[in-house]
Amino acid sequence: MASNAARISALREGLDRPSRVVDWPTVDHRHAYISEIYGQNVFTLKELQKHLPKPVYARFVQQIKGRQTLDRPTADAVAHAVRVWAMDRGATHFTHWFQPQTGTTAEKHDNFLTLKTVVGDLDETSPIDTFSGSQLLQSEPDASSFPNGGMRTTFEARGYTIWDTTSPMFIRKGPHGTYVLYIPSVFISYNGEALDEKTVLLRSAETLANAALRLLRVLGDTETKRVYTTLGTEQEFFLIDRALYQLRPDLKITGRTLIGSMPPKHQQLEDHYFGQIPSRVLACISEMELELFKLGVPVKTRHNEVAPQQFEFAPIFEEASVAVDHNLLAMETLHQVAHRHGLKVLFHEKPFKGINGSGKHCNWSMSTDNGENLLDPSAKPETNYRFLLFLLATLDAVNKHAGLLRAGIASSSNEHRLGAQEAPPGIISAFLGEHLNEVLDSIEELRDVRNFSRPHMESVKVGGTVLDLKVSTLPQIARDLTDRNRTSPFAFTGNKFEFRAVGSKQSPSFPVALLNAAVAASIDLVAEALEKQKGSKPQLTVDDILNVIRHFVKQTKSVRFEGNNYSQEWVDEAARRGLPNIKSCPVAFRQLLEPSHAALLTKTGIFTETELHSRYHILVEKYAKDLLIEAHTLKTMTVQSVLPAAFAYRKELADALKTLKEVGEDIATSPEKAILTRLKSQVDRLNAANDKLVSVIDKAEGLEGEAQADYSSAELTAAMEEVRAATDVIESQVADKYWPYPKYTELLL
Ligand code: ADP
Ligand code: MG
Repeated sequence: MASNAARISALREGLDRPSRVVDWPTVDHRHAYISEIYGQNVFTLKELQKHLPKPVYARFVQQIKGRQTLDRPTADAVAHAVRVWAMDRGATHFTHWFQPQTGTTAEKHDNFLTLKTVVGDLDETSPIDTFSGSQLLQSEPDASSFPNGGMRTTFEARGYTIWDTTSPMFIRKGPHGTYVLYIPSVFISYNGEALDEKTVLLRSAETLANAALRLLRVLGDTETKRVYTTLGTEQEFFLIDRALYQLRPDLKITGRTLIGSMPPKHQQLEDHYFGQIPSRVLACISEMELELFKLGVPVKTRHNEVAPQQFEFAPIFEEASVAVDHNLLAMETLHQVAHRHGLKVLFHEKPFKGINGSGKHCNWSMSTDNGENLLDPSAKPETNYRFLLFLLATLDAVNKHAGLLRAGIASSSNEHRLGAQEAPPGIISAFLGEHLNEVLDSIEELRDVRNFSRPHMESVKVGGTVLDLKVSTLPQIARDLTDRNRTSPFAFTGNKFEFRAVGSKQSPSFPVALLNAAVAASIDLVAEALEKQKGSKPQLTVDDILNVIRHFVKQTKSVRFEGNNYSQEWVDEAARRGLPNIKSCPVAFRQLLEPSHAALLTKTGIFTETELHSRYHILVEKYAKDLLIEAHTLKTMTVQSVLPAAFAYRKELADALKTLKEVGEDIATSPEKAILTRLKSQVDRLNAANDKLVSVIDKAEGLEGEAQADYSSAELTAAMEEVRAATDVIESQVADKYWPYPKYTELLL
């Protein structure tokens, strides 16, 4: 068998080969309209209506709207309808599809087969296809192997998946023409505790909806029936050659490179961002889009990102719970499609040290059932008060619960990105843009807020800028789309907030649920303040509203930051303002149990005490496990490949020196000798660093829970850094032919 080095060089030569489509025939991209194929694999309400008798359909809609459990005959009818629809399209199996706390989705396939006994002279069984209402509604996976944070002991390890009727069913094509009916589900324990990401997200959405309705009512809105959160996820990722990926155990096991020095050219020429998409990548992404269109996932945008081999796609925003399902579907689909193109997708937040990492910018807003965006200032002038109140509630939430939001984005992988050169630091602040900032400043600074309600007053001077107040009583707030601050972890971008600190790999569920929870609580406070102002009056006056606005402007001032979030000045300034700067995961996770955050989550009913502690333990445990897996991988690579490569090169140099000596050369001054000496010192360094790593691993493995996470966070990370530092120098010293792994240059260019 060829050595690794020989295989790599063979692969290097083959790098420009055309895309290899492995299992499936090439996809025909000549569809005239995306709208024609859009949603063709989704069992929509329209589809259901076609398949059900009118009264049954009406009963279904009524029960879903009223959030009741479906009655048995209705469930049976829906199950029958969806089975017929799915089987017509080739489906043989169904699965409840759910989101355990592993960051990905889970599924267990069952087929439609039933053996029915035909009673006769000799009883005989005959095969038929069936799917009952109870199979549709509920399934009982063997749940003992999912993360539960000690919530269930093995003997009562029953878990249930239950159809989430807010998200439509769909069929998905597997390899070799297999089709499976997917039933989006929640996953709960025998006692009804959430074991998944989705239940919590749905609860948080409901909490926020109730608070928002309360605020709308006190503002005199009697029409709106429902408020929901909207979410659009900009997904960043890397695509690299799969054959090269196969040669990197670190990428395969941990999703990131644990060693590797920077190539001479990476992103410094800024020639990748928005550049022409490489053809193999475009073929891959187009095929992913095609699959997603059929699944009713509204992907919209695709482009190159800043780093080499880094790309992004973004969908049209949707109701948050559906958007989360769709984000996870899109990630899984890209994963599969990339395989067929000889590519490997890396969703890790920081696959390559020193090179930009990936995020999942969560664009978030609130909308009424009439489709009015509550964070859109360009709506009718009368609604600008409403806009300001919802905006301030969001700021208040970020201000009070920055630590909680930080917990929602903490993971061993995102840790490498947060605080790195391209990503927001561990300080959560909000960016509003110049114009909006001045509106808030002027409201705060004007001693007499009633100035705003003087009809004749058309403009007000704020720090040299004239603020347009033409509308008789209200500051006119223009939507400024050009105003951007890419360094802010939480930026207002015209009509929505963009939570940029969320990691590319993580499910958006948890961070969005925490955001919803915090905003819901602050909306309640705003509503309460308004209710107090209103007292027994028939309606609020402009002054009443401005009083409340002004109070919250003052209250939330310290969380607003317009400058460069990557700068040291901001770190210092944030410390002066008393904003938390949370640098490590264990500290971030503890925020979940910090009394004010914990009270927020449990009082709103989004988490029970048990669920919150369970969630905390799962996160802590996973974090320590992730680090230990990385450490073991690094140790193995060092011992089995890096050191041997260095030894081989040393032998070559030593042999050369021996030969030179034999022919009478003065070897003391030879370059071979100098290189050998330099290499020896790095090999000694690496060897010592690896010994240290081994002892730190041993110690970490003797610990448990929080102690293990704390120790690993401090010691394992440092020990791994030192091994890496030595290795990366050795990489630059050892002859290329000996190097056992594809280098950054091969992986990225
Ligand atoms: P921008 O360039 O300002 O980021 P885009 O329209 O490209 O604007 O938006 C980026 C993402 O934000 C997209 O996924 C988009 O659907 C989403 N988005 C736009 N409006 C909203 C909204 N009201 N709520 C949630 N997401 C939104
Ligand atoms: Mg954006």
